[in-house]
Amino acid sequence: MSEIKRVYTFGDKQAEGRADMKNLLGGKGANLAEMNLIGVPVPPGFTITTEVCAEYNRLGRDQVVALLKDDVEAAIHHIERIMGTEFGSSENPCLISVRSGARASMPGMMDTVLNLGLNDDAVQGLIKRTGTERFAWDSYRRFVQMYGDVVLGLKPASKEDVDPFEEIIDQMKKEKGVALDTELTVDDLKELVIRFKAAVKKNTGKEFPVDPWDQLWGAIMAVFDSWNNDRAILYRRLNKIPDEWGTAVNGQAMVFGNMGDRSATGVAFSRDAATGEDIFNGEYLINAQGEDVVAGIRTPRQITKEGSLRWAKLANVSEEERASKYPSLEETMPEVYRELNEIQQKLEDHYKDMQDLEFTIQDGKLWLLQTRNGKRTGAAMVKIAMDMLRQGIIDEKTAILRQEPGKLDELLHPVFDKDAIAHAKVIAKGLPASPGAATGQIVFHADDAETWAAEGKKVVLVRIETSPEDLKGMNVAQGILTARGGMTSHAAVVARGMGKCCVSGAGGMVIDYKTRTVKTGGSSYQEGDWISLNGSTGEVYDGKTQTIDPELSGDFGELMQLADQFATTKVRTNADTPHDSKVARNFGAIGIGLCRTEHMFFEGDRIKAVREMILAEDEAGRRKALDKLLPMQRSDFEGIFEAMHDLPVTIRLLDPPLHEFVPHEEENQREMAEEMGITLQEVKDKVESLHEFNPMLGHRGCRLGNTYPEISEMQVRAIIEAALNLKEKGVHAHPEIMIPLTGTVEEMRMQEKITRDTAEKVFEERGDRIDYLVGTMIEVPRAALTADQIAESAEFFSFGTNDLTQMTFGYSRDDAGKFLPVYLEKGILKEDPFQVLDQAGVGQLVEMAVQKGRSTRPDLKVGICGEHGGEPSSVEFCHRVGMNYVSCSPFRVPIARLAAAQAALR
Ligand code: PEP
Ligand code: MG
Repeated sequence: MSEIKRVYTFGDKQAEGRADMKNLLGGKGANLAEMNLIGVPVPPGFTITTEVCAEYNRLGRDQVVALLKDDVEAAIHHIERIMGTEFGSSENPCLISVRSGARASMPGMMDTVLNLGLNDDAVQGLIKRTGTERFAWDSYRRFVQMYGDVVLGLKPASKEDVDPFEEIIDQMKKEKGVALDTELTVDDLKELVIRFKAAVKKNTGKEFPVDPWDQLWGAIMAVFDSWNNDRAILYRRLNKIPDEWGTAVNGQAMVFGNMGDRSATGVAFSRDAATGEDIFNGEYLINAQGEDVVAGIRTPRQITKEGSLRWAKLANVSEEERASKYPSLEETMPEVYRELNEIQQKLEDHYKDMQDLEFTIQDGKLWLLQTRNGKRTGAAMVKIAMDMLRQGIIDEKTAILRQEPGKLDELLHPVFDKDAIAHAKVIAKGLPASPGAATGQIVFHADDAETWAAEGKKVVLVRIETSPEDLKGMNVAQGILTARGGMTSHAAVVARGMGKCCVSGAGGMVIDYKTRTVKTGGSSYQEGDWISLNGSTGEVYDGKTQTIDPELSGDFGELMQLADQFATTKVRTNADTPHDSKVARNFGAIGIGLCRTEHMFFEGDRIKAVREMILAEDEAGRRKALDKLLPMQRSDFEGIFEAMHDLPVTIRLLDPPLHEFVPHEEENQREMAEEMGITLQEVKDKVESLHEFNPMLGHRGCRLGNTYPEISEMQVRAIIEAALNLKEKGVHAHPEIMIPLTGTVEEMRMQEKITRDTAEKVFEERGDRIDYLVGTMIEVPRAALTADQIAESAEFFSFGTNDLTQMTFGYSRDDAGKFLPVYLEKGILKEDPFQVLDQAGVGQLVEMAVQKGRSTRPDLKVGICGEHGGEPSSVEFCHRVGMNYVSCSPFRVPIARLAAAQAALR
């Protein structure tokens, strides 16, 4: 026997694993073990570790089977002992489920096999044990179907093709002249098993495996294989789950929710996963297997009576109909309900977080099949943490650390304007499966959603129900609308995980995939028609509906205040207009970290003056044009200073290559020629002369200000005059003048001199002064390497990690799109370094520059203003290397505030 433990058993209130062994046992396995340890009824089973998944990928099937054989056999005997069953027995067969279970939950992305162990002998045993032939044969045909699909690969060839097994069932129903599966007789089900097996033989060339051990090994390997199926890979990419983690495999004694009317299966949440409300809720189906609830094929019923009443109201179901057709579990099985309610409370108290449970009731006995911290929307994430904090369940640090900063994004998206909703025409009503507002054009297929979205269209994916295959389409859609399925359907669960607006189970709609139409409330909508979804109420509106910006209030506002108590790294914003400045200020920015002045040059008519400046023959010509620009720039700065009154504003002097501003089309060139009284040819020649082979490394940044000092002079004058003008009005501006693209201290010194001389001149003219700083961006590797020298002149550093990444990797910001996606696909890069700061490389330069800079100037103020300033893992890095602030776009300010607090707490 090897020393590595590969298989962990659980059952009968004992377990070899624990909740804190998620990395090894996967979330599901660790929690199954833990539930045993705290006395929750769980069918016995075993977990094969995630490490074996890596071994499987390395060594292949045969070697892994050899490594596992003794342990897996012992584990099956452990199940047999507890359940009093035997693998393959014709008296009392041991049947098991085989499921995946990674460290992070990946709902529905990997494979599952149920009813494993059935064969011609075992089916007889199942009949003896349960006394129902129909149930036994139906389980058998379901098993062959599922195993045939998952392990043996008999699947529909394309989206238009039917499932090969469903085709056989349809054929059978036609032969027998019946419409429903349930109308098939026991003999029909027996015949189906035979035909299914024949289809397997025909397609694979091999007999369907009858030995339960062969079945078991096939299923285990199929689960390992499913770690690498397309949808699992995509899900990992979307959720940043590393490929190396691998999945565990859980084998567990089957319990049946489909053994009759005293059996059921369901999914429950200890709090509302969409809104965060503290109410136990969930759905169940009588006489069904687990997958039936998630697949959304039958309309599930609510677990609590309160939930059932709410549901009926939304679904427009009368109380009479509800009570007779869709009663709650609380009403139909009050005893089991009481036990389930106690267990959900016990589990939430134990894990101190909202739990998502799966359960099965077999013949009146309750079994828990899974518990995990439930996926939730951004709104629910915030509310649950703040409620639990107030309820004394968790402390402030936990409340902050439990947030996923990226998820706050959902709370920052537009919501429907209340007035607009009041006038909107409601065309359908479903369940509020995932809150938010979505407006888009109808598409019916996930791949169409992808194509349309790639063309820049906004789409709403409308489906009868969704399956894991639809993941890509769901990801690009504005929202998802389904005709079937409840609050725990695939569409609902996945949409909530994505923070995407979803209305599920809008039963009044009739969708026809072939004609690409949906009929609802007497109207018919085609592919391409506009609709809007309200994920908070379940309403679907005709056409486009107006949205408004969200606010930072309530629990969200409180959470942000809490975060600020812990954060030591402050958050500023990148903003070039008074409007953006105000938005960012409302989101809690404590200053501007980057105002890119060039953006102002494109506004309105002023591009003409800019062009005139660039095209000028000499300094005198440039000064003439700059004089026209001065008042415009000054008023821009006044607007921004006013919006940010009392807060620091970092203004960067002109940065981009001049050539970006010149007219390239002949019509514009002619206009410029007239404006300046020169010939078209002269304009053309000048444009030609400004052409650069590599403008990003060309005449830009401080190289502009050092070759044409009059440009820097004009900008500095505009800044200082604006600040003085506001001072007269009682508004305190704190400008921090920032030199771009510095590479040597001499460049910096020259720019500093121009800046200070100009400022002094203005002070003298006005007979008044203000305080200001002069600093630089660090975005050229040489600047990082010589930061100690540069800090002799610069009063602050701001890392321009966009350019620093470009120059450290040697990846052109403009051209990297050609190869970066391939690099990510092939795993050469784990993340796009332009989005997530490359800590190992670029980060080393950053850290070194901070240290060197402060060795010269201990109180050097340091920040970051590249795109990374709003990305949580990069914010954490910035905190670690001792930056004073990060700066990011206005809508990422709350995310950065939270990430900064988490960094301080970790
Ligand atoms: C940077 O390079 O990171 C930066 C903020 O400047 P820009 O993106 O304008 O080049
Ligand atoms: Mg830059």
